[in-house]
Amino acid sequence: MIEQIDKEYVLHTYARNYVNFKRGVNATLFDENDKDYIDFTAGIAVVSVGHGNKRVADKIYEQVSNITHISNLYAIEPQALLAKRLSELSDMDIRTFFANSGAEANEGAIKIARKYGETHFKEKKYKVITLTNSFHGRTITTVKATGQDAMHTPNFSPYPDGFSHLNSIQDIYTSIDDETVAVMIELVQGEGGVQPFDKKEIQKLAKFLKEQDVLLIIDEVQTGVYRTGEFLASNLYEIKPDIVTLAKGLGGGVPIGAIMTTHKDIFSPGDHGSTFGGNYLVTAAALEVLDILEEIKDDGSLDATIIYFNSKLNAIYENNKDLFTANVGLGLMRGLRVKDAQTLALIIKTAFEYGVLVLKAGQNTLRFLPALTISKEEMNEGFKRLENALNKIKQG
Ligand SMILES: *Cc1c(COP(=O)(O)O)cnc(C)c1O
Repeated sequence: MIEQIDKEYVLHTYARNYVNFKRGVNATLFDENDKDYIDFTAGIAVVSVGHGNKRVADKIYEQVSNITHISNLYAIEPQALLAKRLSELSDMDIRTFFANSGAEANEGAIKIARKYGETHFKEKKYKVITLTNSFHGRTITTVKATGQDAMHTPNFSPYPDGFSHLNSIQDIYTSIDDETVAVMIELVQGEGGVQPFDKKEIQKLAKFLKEQDVLLIIDEVQTGVYRTGEFLASNLYEIKPDIVTLAKGLGGGVPIGAIMTTHKDIFSPGDHGSTFGGNYLVTAAALEVLDILEEIKDDGSLDATIIYFNSKLNAIYENNKDLFTANVGLGLMRGLRVKDAQTLALIIKTAFEYGVLVLKAGQNTLRFLPALTISKEEMNEGFKRLENALNKIKQG
């Protein structure tokens, strides 16, 4: 039923799985036949405080039964409070602009870099360097910024000028020219295959860029909001970027993006805007999400969850070296490299049949992005089901 209607009326941009989820409780989902699934995906790192979170639901209800939206022509109290909160939690001297998605946040970050390049130097600078296997979004500009050639199809060309994609951090040092205004990277490449960069290497790059007056943009759309165990991966790496973007986990499921920058006066009225960005609904929700996450960070339970999840994951990895070639990632952003793409597809499909949801990243990485509030019982059950699925695959 849902399959027919979806196929008839929704544009076909996803290779969809036709399960019909009806109910969610933390990291557990129930389909229309009440079959339960342990969710190791959290809606691709979005549902950071779990499905059906009562505190967030109550806060949203309270807000939308009062005011949902009034436009950015007036001050919005939860928006101002959220911006203050982001500054405190990130330990950065910043101001924030609120967008509605990760791509939009990155688009805004690029606009900040472009304006900096136009206004800050005698000769205009506009080039932005990104990395191979990066992912920055699906708008025309952020697709161009994304360093995966497969995404630069002529179907959507011409793309904007000024983007180049390098194979390694090392290549950045020799590729900066007089027109380079910014370097944009993820600290753990997510969609590209759960690939963390080396902390020392990133610190050295950050220092070098500062000396060269080239902006450092860190795309934390996936790594941000405690995904790696700290509020920002930038905090974990102990760097102070010029611009940080957030989205996925910030709203616990409501669409919100954020562009945070230390260049606090870069924009003037009229330079940038958004109809929905930072409205009452999403910023009230995000404030409650941050309250919950700060609590579990401060009482040690987030760290305990990360340790437990990774001990379980490592056991799966050690027991199945015939399928997996590496255990990668940080915090609750984890991956197991699978020996080939075919086996990876089979693992995801079989795991689904056994009632556990897992993701693909890059060509051959099995990816895990559970809710940061996932319970010990859910982890035990999810890994038991995954192990059973792997055994089934090995029996053929
Ligand atoms: C998901 C993601 C994006 C795009 O976010 P959307 O909300 O889908 O536009 C950008 N950058 C990174 C690192 C992401 O993981």
